[in-house]
Amino acid sequence: MRIPLHFYIAHNAVEKGVLLDAARTAGEHGVSHIWLEVRSQKDTALIREVSSLNLHVVSAIKDPALIEGSLRNGTSGIAVHPGIQKEVLRYRDTLIRSGSAVYLYMREEDRSVLEGEGFFSLVNEIVVSYGELKREKIENLFVHIHHPDPVLHFNISRYLKMRYGIRHVVSLTPCRSMEDSLIPGSLTLGSLFYERIGEGVLLRLSSDQEYSRKNVSEAALLARNILGSCRLYPRAYTIISCPTCGRCRMDLQKMTEEIDHRLKALEKKYNQDGKNLEDVGGIAVAVMGCNVNGPGEARSADIGIAGSKNNTGILFKNGRVFKTFPENRLADELMIHTKDIIDKKFNTANMP
Ligand code: SF4
Repeated sequence: MRIPLHFYIAHNAVEKGVLLDAARTAGEHGVSHIWLEVRSQKDTALIREVSSLNLHVVSAIKDPALIEGSLRNGTSGIAVHPGIQKEVLRYRDTLIRSGSAVYLYMREEDRSVLEGEGFFSLVNEIVVSYGELKREKIENLFVHIHHPDPVLHFNISRYLKMRYGIRHVVSLTPCRSMEDSLIPGSLTLGSLFYERIGEGVLLRLSSDQEYSRKNVSEAALLARNILGSCRLYPRAYTIISCPTCGRCRMDLQKMTEEIDHRLKALEKKYNQDGKNLEDVGGIAVAVMGCNVNGPGEARSADIGIAGSKNNTGILFKNGRVFKTFPENRLADELMIHTKDIIDKKFNTANMP
């Protein structure tokens, strides 16, 4: 499963060159949709430029008069503030015919209503707008809300989903560093996706971050890592390893680190050949400490090893025992057979 990644570029804050570079970088790192603020007819021309990078563009529109120009320039969706559904419905037939999505979203300015009653009035407005658009058969319809209080955010999102069947694009705003972002990001996305709330993730840089290649790629990587752990985004490779216990006779941590390092290098090599492991579903590798409880995980992965007695380990391939090897050959054998499995995946994918 692949949850689409959206990336919001507040382009009033950046020059065109920076914007295109940020969009390109985001695309290279798995983002499929770029949200662009469209504030004038001139901005609608940008939609074509960003679309030419093989990205879907969602036009974030404040002035309804810009909806037509955005649709004419090939936008994949429009993001509008709830309350302007009447204006949106003037383009109903075009929206339905083109399959363009409509996103009801909270603008930056709406952050001022996050305190107190204002937020609930806005939520109420979203419900009314959503209902009116839905009654007019606009089906490709989503809501994007955010709130700094994760508990409130979660409960409101769940309520909207359960009560009205509202489809959400959920928010993820990375902090300055990847480490700081990981736990809050995992909690937000984890709780929402656990309840099956969310059909997309909208990434925004925090207000103190520049649209540099590093920040954009790290934001995308953060989302991919979190979603990948929940099997909601394909990963090039996943290592399943045990915590070890008294049954483990080998240095499992060292072995796992070595295998991780070698898998990274292998992924890079495939990428250099123009192949992405994610496109063939990635590969699951189990590195387990013993042959008592290890074989379960090793069998359910694409490939795995489980430590055994007398400094040996068992290699499992495609769910079956393949062979027992001396411990010092395990990592090499695992890599040889991992490559074999990946090559077969690519060959199968290329079969007519
Ligand atoms: S797989 Fe074996 S070594 Fe690892 S934690 Fe389980 S019992 Fe212990």
